[in-house]
Amino acid sequence: MAPSCANPDIILIGGGVMSANLGALIKRLDPRLRIQVFERGEAMAMESSNGWSNAGTGHAGLCELSYTPSRGADGTVNVDKALEIFGQFEETLQFWSYAAASGMAEQPADFIRPVPHLSFVHGREQVEFLRSRFAGLSRHPFFETMEFTTDPDVIAGWAPLLMEGQEKMPVAATKVDTGTDVDFGVLARRLLAWLGAQEGCAVASRHRVDGLRRCHGGWEVEVTDLAAGTSRTCRAKFVFVGAGGGSLPLLQKAGIPEARGLGGFPIGGQWLVCRKPEIVRRHQAKVYGQALDAAPTMAVPHLDTRVLNGQKALLFGPFAAWTGKFLQQQGSWLDLPLSVRPDNLLTLLRIGWSNLPLIHYLMKEGAQSMDSRLAMLRQFYPEAHEEDWTLERAGIRVQAIKKTDGEAGIVHYGTELIKSADHSIAALLGASPGASVCVHIAVGVIRACLPHLLDSDEGRERMREMIPARGEELRQPENAGKFRELHRHCLKTLGLI
Ligand SMILES: Cc1cc2nc3c(=O)[nH]c(=O)nc-3n(C[C@H](O)[C@H](O)[C@H](O)COP(=O)(O)OP(=O)(O)OC[C@H]3O[C@@H](n4cnc5c(N)ncnc54)[C@H](O)[C@@H]3O)c2cc1C
Repeated sequence: MAPSCANPDIILIGGGVMSANLGALIKRLDPRLRIQVFERGEAMAMESSNGWSNAGTGHAGLCELSYTPSRGADGTVNVDKALEIFGQFEETLQFWSYAAASGMAEQPADFIRPVPHLSFVHGREQVEFLRSRFAGLSRHPFFETMEFTTDPDVIAGWAPLLMEGQEKMPVAATKVDTGTDVDFGVLARRLLAWLGAQEGCAVASRHRVDGLRRCHGGWEVEVTDLAAGTSRTCRAKFVFVGAGGGSLPLLQKAGIPEARGLGGFPIGGQWLVCRKPEIVRRHQAKVYGQALDAAPTMAVPHLDTRVLNGQKALLFGPFAAWTGKFLQQQGSWLDLPLSVRPDNLLTLLRIGWSNLPLIHYLMKEGAQSMDSRLAMLRQFYPEAHEEDWTLERAGIRVQAIKKTDGEAGIVHYGTELIKSADHSIAALLGASPGASVCVHIAVGVIRACLPHLLDSDEGRERMREMIPARGEELRQPENAGKFRELHRHCLKTLGLI
């Protein structure tokens, strides 16, 4: 892989799953473009996108109860958000199946595997909620293969660990067999290796971007070669800041008006991990439950099959934790204090004040004993023993905080795309539903900032080859047949059926 290319048209900062998918899509749309990727780590995708940093759930709304709010007065559950996420993940599957078939990311079994997605609830009220959720979802073609049961024996057949020693009380579960477990790190490294081998492109690790300055016709990017200890300045017409937790400080340095008042709220994470073969072998599912009080939506507990480097393990969590760092591997406790600026100080204070229960929850979660972690795990796996589980570090999510949020102030758990008015720079903040919808986000960046790539018949045709139909389109009832055909094709190409 060449570390640097002369006169890049586009610079992508960060070698995670977001830059990898965006870079690959752009290069396919216009093979003449020169693209430079700078990654500060030793290797690509070693932060949030890497193995144990995330849960690897291919978020498609199949099992995550946080995408469907509680029942309305009429007893129904609004399933719009789940349909939206499913459609966005479908775009991701289309591009990845194109990448697998075209040699950009071969051997998909290394980065995506079929793992059934289950939702599991206890207690009469939750059982009725899940029943209504199932009624709302299963009438749509996206969710037509979903199964629902309140029979403990059926649940024990789907996921035996859930029912062994389980208290006698009403329980219910749904299951979709075509859920996925994804190694976003492997996929990112594969796409970036492909990109770096293309003419006019270069992918450089151990290159840290330290500054961004506007210049005539684009941006000047100040970069330090950490191996050589030298610095240089590169110019490009378009810059994508896909630096994960490192995006906010870079946006602040860029000084665009759209970033004024923005703040970041880091939330760390931990997993309980089990590698004992006789236990791991008996669970083949990602099982999501309900959020606990004050827990942010991404801290909904789940008991997951996780396959990394061909090794299967079980993961439970995430346990959220208070942190001041913005990056897991290369972060510093000064990241949060250094991100405080005159333009975001009031917003941060307001958010802190109006989110005291969340801050209290994060501090309590991070400091809790192994016993209380196991008590949570035992809601899913009543016969879990402490000696079979270890506590391991997960990645950090830096949630966006915006000045425009009004008096109460909210922490944004979604993914926020910030772009300058002239569309010469775009940055991604936040991390949920994250990597699963990276292709949908990348297409959004292209439409907003590089629309000329889709202006010609040729550009549109290339996009259709990679992503034949957008999620929104497939969601329409008249496109049910098209959805089924395309979905099956993607699942087959990716070896998921
Ligand atoms: C606990 C947890 C669980 C999650 N679970 C899921 C899940 O189940 N499913 C899902 O879809 N998503 C999940 N996510 C979200 C997902 O991991 C992220 O959305 C995704 O990995 C973000 O990718 P990225 O490329 O934006 O960031 P990253 O993968 O973090 O990549 C950013 C890169 O930029 C580099 N960088 C930073 N600063 C600089 C700089 N100044 N110069 C050069 N390079 C720089 C970093 O070293 C890093 O490699 C989870 C996240 C966490 C934390």
